[in-house]
Amino acid sequence: MHEPAHLNHAIELLVARYEESNIKHPKPYNSYHEGLGLLLEELHELQEQIFRKEADQNPAKIQHEACDCANVAIKMMILAEKHRLSMLQKEMKS
Ligand SMILES: [Mg+2]
Repeated sequence: MHEPAHLNHAIELLVARYEESNIKHPKPYNSYHEGLGLLLEELHELQEQIFRKEADQNPAKIQHEACDCANVAIKMMILAEKHRLSMLQKEMKS
């Protein structure tokens, strides 16, 4: 079980990252494929940090790249939620 303070801090970092990225890139993803491509790029950046020699690993950088991955995943979740709600509305109209 994660300590609540660590979870709260991770969520705070993620929300800050999400807001920062929305200023830089305000448009939502056009497709799941676009989101997946970005997630794979971020996973690669995380992998680069993790595959360093242990002495060269920087927890702050690993945390940053993991947060980038979570940010892209959140945006994909939001896109899926929009699609899910849109499908529900269509079902209710028919
Ligand atoms: Mg990154």
